[in-house]
Amino acid sequence: MLRDTFQRPVRDLRISVTDRCNFRCTYCMPHDEYEWIDKREILTYEEIARLARLFIELGVDRIRLTGGEPLVRKDLENLVSKLAGLPGLTELCLTTNGALLAEKAAALKAAGLRRINISIDTLDPEKFRKITQRGDLAKVLEGFFTAKACGFDPIKINMVVERGVNDDDIFEMLEFSRRHGCAIRFIEYMDVGNSNNWQSEKMVPKKEILEKIAARYPLREVGRTGGSAPAVDYELLDGAGDIGVIASVTEPFCSSCTRARLTADGKLVTCLFSEVGHSLKALLRNGANDEEILEAIRAVWGNRRDRYSDERLEAMNSARGYQARERRKIEMITLGG
Ligand code: SAM
Ligand code: SF4
Ligand code: SF4
Repeated sequence: MLRDTFQRPVRDLRISVTDRCNFRCTYCMPHDEYEWIDKREILTYEEIARLARLFIELGVDRIRLTGGEPLVRKDLENLVSKLAGLPGLTELCLTTNGALLAEKAAALKAAGLRRINISIDTLDPEKFRKITQRGDLAKVLEGFFTAKACGFDPIKINMVVERGVNDDDIFEMLEFSRRHGCAIRFIEYMDVGNSNNWQSEKMVPKKEILEKIAARYPLREVGRTGGSAPAVDYELLDGAGDIGVIASVTEPFCSSCTRARLTADGKLVTCLFSEVGHSLKALLRNGANDEEILEAIRAVWGNRRDRYSDERLEAMNSARGYQARERRKIEMITLGG
């Protein structure tokens, strides 16, 4: 089995199908314009499916489609049906902002998509507009209910918690998820990309999130799904649901990180905070055979030594402290979450 320098296998592949997005969330993509990937450089669905098949040969068994906003890419269901048919895949998920989900949910389900995560940070329409800069909460909720009616189960809600922005929405979000029988994951605000002006004071640590929730709803820790999932799960002791917390900043999980990322223009990226990717597109488009592409992936993963979040925590705890802007990272919209 393929392993990196810290003996971590490659199990998950996050595929960014586009760097475009119909929102401009302040914590992710605050500006109007970016250096967009040229349309000709974007992998076709055939190219993505071929790479996915090769990653599965190397040990991947879970694929997540992401972006940018994956649903702004035309006919995403065509890619889903190609991937859903690949032997060896145990999970095929989508992370979306939900804005186009009402129109797309039925086709995605029919194509074989198994799970959906929807990002919703507040149920206050005005605040939602402020955070996303372009989003309409009503459309997103319509997407959520359509997906539910189409039989997606479980639907997971992702909420990025930002101090002074939506930390007072935690209970409303939790109660919404309980009422509608879906799981919710609270995400520590991270210093992704270079443009969100991250400050550690705006990050609400996992400990604080949990203390707040436990004061009203006693909890029991369940652990990480499969031992390596980013979220640590908790069961609410009243039996009405569970929650997860992704604490990339205060409780990093690099030692069990089995996630590879593929950008929309075919770069293999080995960490959410990487400065560079490794192009597989040139190989694809220059007629390389499967073995040559497999060899390129093996070489990149075999040399992987990423542990950015571990290093961030070490720096935060050191006398010097952590400077988020010291490293020029690839933007989150290019990488997918
Ligand atoms: N557009 C889709 C969406 O918003 O769900 C998929 C891509 S988005 C980059 C994937 C996930 O990353 C979302 O759940 C989003 O909330 C999360 N995310 C973006 N910026 C973040 C940040 N600075 N800290 C923590 N999570 C972030
Ligand atoms: Fe777009 Fe998702 Fe980033 Fe928001 S979090 S700007 S919806 S890619
Ligand atoms: Fe994985 Fe990089 Fe995140 Fe660590 S910082 S968990 S290596 S993606």
